[in-house]
Amino acid sequence: MAVTRTFSIIKPDATRRNLTGAVTAMLEEAGLRVVASKRIHMTREQAEGFYAVHKERPFFGELVAFMISGPVVVQVLEGEDAVKRNRDVMGATNPGDAAEGTIRKSFAESIEANSVHGSDSDENAGIEIGFFFKPEEIVG
Ligand code: GDP
Repeated sequence: MAVTRTFSIIKPDATRRNLTGAVTAMLEEAGLRVVASKRIHMTREQAEGFYAVHKERPFFGELVAFMISGPVVVQVLEGEDAVKRNRDVMGATNPGDAAEGTIRKSFAESIEANSVHGSDSDENAGIEIGFFFKPEEIVG
């Protein structure tokens, strides 16, 4: 299977509870390698741009407010079939539906404050990585 990259965010509910290391450990245990990482406080413009695909959804305003409520850690993850591997360890969007052993089952507070973001396709991974990282910031 091909080694690919995906984009991850450790969301404000997780950084607030000092879970950056715990979440990253689960990503690593799942076979993903952190090849870029930075802690940032997103601006409203960044959050609105990043989640533009959800603009029409009723929770868009709340989601943007949540994502700028505290620092996040944006990461590029590398591994075999990285997008799927990451989605599998993240678990379902709603932590009530997430499987045992997933990040969201272990840590998420709610369907919104669900601790992590992960790209849903190789194409979106490329777009999302480019939104936050310059090529020279990614060191595999
Ligand atoms: P994901 O790919 O599993 O992150 O899920 P989606 O792409 O469907 O949604 C993006 C993000 O929006 C989720 O991770 C949640 O933080 C948030 N979200 C999704 N559904 C809801 C909802 O019904 N209410 C609220 N407030 N936030 C939601």
